[in-house]
Amino acid sequence: MQPRIVILGAGESGIGTAVLAKKLGADVFVSDSGTVKPAVAAELNALGVAWEQGAHTEALILNADEVVKSPGIPDNAPLILRLRFNGIPVINEIEYAARHTKAKLIGITGTNGKTTTTLLTYHIFKNAGYKVGLGGNIGKSFARQVAEQDFDYYILEISSFQLDGMFNTRLDVGVLTNITPDHLDRYDYQLENYVASKLRIAQNMGPEQVLLYCADDPITTQALEGASIKARKIAFSLNQKLEEGAWKEDKNMIISINQDTMTVPFDELSLKGRHNAYNAMAASVPAKLYDIRKEAIRDSLSSFEQVEHRLEAVATIKGVEYINDSKATNVNSTWYALESFNSPIVWIAGGVDKGNDYEALKELVKERVKAIVCLGTDNRRIHEEFGALVPVIVNTTSMEECVKMSHHLAVKGDIVLLSPACASFDLFDNYEDRGRQFKKHVKAL
Ligand code: ADP
Repeated sequence: MQPRIVILGAGESGIGTAVLAKKLGADVFVSDSGTVKPAVAAELNALGVAWEQGAHTEALILNADEVVKSPGIPDNAPLILRLRFNGIPVINEIEYAARHTKAKLIGITGTNGKTTTTLLTYHIFKNAGYKVGLGGNIGKSFARQVAEQDFDYYILEISSFQLDGMFNTRLDVGVLTNITPDHLDRYDYQLENYVASKLRIAQNMGPEQVLLYCADDPITTQALEGASIKARKIAFSLNQKLEEGAWKEDKNMIISINQDTMTVPFDELSLKGRHNAYNAMAASVPAKLYDIRKEAIRDSLSSFEQVEHRLEAVATIKGVEYINDSKATNVNSTWYALESFNSPIVWIAGGVDKGNDYEALKELVKERVKAIVCLGTDNRRIHEEFGALVPVIVNTTSMEECVKMSHHLAVKGDIVLLSPACASFDLFDNYEDRGRQFKKHVKAL
């Protein structure tokens, strides 16, 4: 009998799963409680897949052999609890697709730096001529690629929500960029739950597989001490010399795997800033593990182009540099942004506060920020935390107003930095919308 695969959520990962499940001959049903986009509906119809929108009809879902849910649906949603209570496995797209490919899987997780590290790793593999796919949270779904073309390697960006839906997948290399508090609302406000979720990147690994982690990150190192991880552990660090992995010596990045060592001057990296030095190390080790030539790694590290909305240089107007770091939706990413500039900063901050602890930012803000332009519907916390530390703090409620105000406050030699440390949903569709509006209004100055 054909297994019945029910897919919850008709986003790219859901549709990709439908394509793969259909190809494998399953009885497929897609259910989305919101509205299904016309293009998606057309694709499902063309595939001959049954689907519904506007509701999750239990009678059509509780008869599944397996459910593949979108990472956006929380584990404690009533339907998911019901499915689990009934003993029906609930997994996600990555788990489903991973079963059906023989490719080497490199999965990248962490609180910050996932997208940058994933894209950089992909860039290195692709430039080296490897048959490599890019998936997870980015672009075309992993499942769709497995169904349609398949590759020898996949570089997958994996969020903690996705890790929570993975049980048997064994990644060949798991990269844990760092762990700082974020998304705690989904983890009962317990850091240890969030940390445990991140460590799932190494679940099912044995000594043949590699867990790559940041030795400078105290939460990670502490978590690893207590965890029983069977993987071969390799670290990267800017603070200490290591026996193996990647580290800093003078102005160079050293990468050494299986006693084969290479050196890249940090100056040559196209991505600047301390956080990107970490990302470069995290991307280079997997490349070295899979024997990509040293020159190829070095070339790719210098040719990689900055990713949109991540410390993206937008324009210099009357000697003021405008930087779009709209993707900085938590305190740690904003810390790295503030740390990256030595000039006085007009800092655009605020939005939806996910229970931020701003303590870590205070010293840098005091030292480098000359004015704060708040951009959110409720800016009380920014005022409470930073009001006494900076001479000027103003409220704005639209991007146009915010950019004009920042322009007014900045003088030649200053930086205007959009790095909100908050989510964007109060005034914008998402962080991309926020970043694009910023760029539009800067260019209109
Ligand atoms: P993610 O996919 O994990 O959200 P991104 O690469 O999209 O990570 O970067 C998100 C934000 O974090 C950006 O503001 C970026 O400048 C910053 N960032 C990137 N890499 C790191 C890192 N290794 N540590 C801390 N912050 C980082």
